Formats: sequence, structure tokens, C-alpha cells
Amino acid sequence: MSGKEHVAIGCAALPFALEIAANAGYSERELVIIAGGIIVGSLIPDIDHPTSFLGKRLKLLSKIINKYFGGLRGITHDFLWVIVSLFVVLFTKTPYVGFFVGVSLHIVSDSMTVMGIPFLYFLNKENKYRILPKFLCCKSGSFMNLLVTGLICYGLIKLGVIYKWKNT
Ligand SMILES: [Zn+2]
Repeated sequence: MSGKEHVAIGCAALPFALEIAANAGYSERELVIIAGGIIVGSLIPDIDHPTSFLGKRLKLLSKIINKYFGGLRGITHDFLWVIVSLFVVLFTKTPYVGFFVGVSLHIVSDSMTVMGIPFLYFLNKENKYRILPKFLCCKSGSFMNLLVTGLICYGLIKLGVIYKWKNT
């Protein structure tokens, strides 16, 4: 998926995530940090690719990660980050939680592509996993990819609406 698609997914998650955070007692200032964290976090994993949005802006760091940490979809796309993020979301109260939400959204979205994502990359560098059967996964940049992005966005916005509706 491209950076634009990941940002679109991050933006679609904002109403839902911010509503939950507001109900959890985060201040308005912290909600702004959470929102920014979600957007930045949704771009971060692709820093492993020098031609990605962040890769172009942080070229040296991107090249180092690309060369030494698994190239495209290496350690920055490890599903382990989603598990770590879940712990941060559930057991901490920090406005930087948005960053972890954004990273998780990115990795889960990429796991719906044919290329898949690694799990425990440092133990197993070759295997890539998908959360959907391969025939339902799309290629990055394809029309199907755009459709999947739209469906994810729709689902996230719908979750936000349902959550808001149930909590008012
Ligand atoms: Zn990615």
C-alpha cells in the first residue's frame, strides 16, 4: 500500500480512536498528540523503503534500515509491533499511544496484500503472513488495493459512528 492509502486509513481511524481516548480522560492537548501520532505512526513502517514518503525525507536512516533490517517489509513491518502496541494501548496511559495505533493500522493493512508481513522477523526472515486467504489479498498499487483501502476506511468510520452513537 502507498503512503497516501496508509494516511487515509489513519485519518479514517481518527474519529473512533479520539472518541475512545476522550472517554478515557485524555485532555484536548493530548488528543491532538494522539491524532498526530496516528498519522505519523501510519507512515513509519514504510521507512524501510527509500522511495516511500518518509524514506525520501529521511534517506540515510531509510537506507540503513533497508540494508541492515530486512529491506522492504522487514523488521519495521513485523506483526510483533501490533502485539506490543496492544499492550501499550491496554496497559499504559500516554498520549503517544496514537503512534502505536498508527503503526498497527499500517501493519494490519499491509497484511491484506499479497506480499504479506513478517512475524518474529529476527527468528524467521523468509516467511511472510497474511490475515486473509491469498486469493482475497491484493497487490500494492492495484485497483483491488484501492478498494480494500476504501473498505477499511469505511469500516473504521462506521466503527467511530457506532461508538459515538452508543456513548451519547
Ligand atoms: Zn508498509
